[in-house]
Amino acid sequence: MLADPSNWHAARVNHLQGEIRNLYWHIRNSQRGRQDAYRRRYYRRIEVLKDELLTLGQSKRDVLDLLACCRRRICRVGCPSCGNHVDWQRWI
Ligand SMILES: [Zn+2]
Repeated sequence: MLADPSNWHAARVNHLQGEIRNLYWHIRNSQRGRQDAYRRRYYRRIEVLKDELLTLGQSKRDVLDLLACCRRRICRVGCPSCGNHVDWQRWI
């Protein structure tokens, strides 16, 4: 198969989003106050991945939505990555 750079780009973005999702698991499942150093460690790792997503051309809005999705166990944001769609018209 011929290597297509546009596929690499999409694959890298996909991988980074998955990694951020995985790292956020540690933040969701640790206690604020007791495990702050532990949480900071993961926030720092996520920060690096976020920067790479931005340099790959993802908009700031997309990155923030991804984080909002990862922060909660149940997604409150309508996002294509986790397959959850929120109809905001219902809440207005
Ligand atoms: Zn989501």
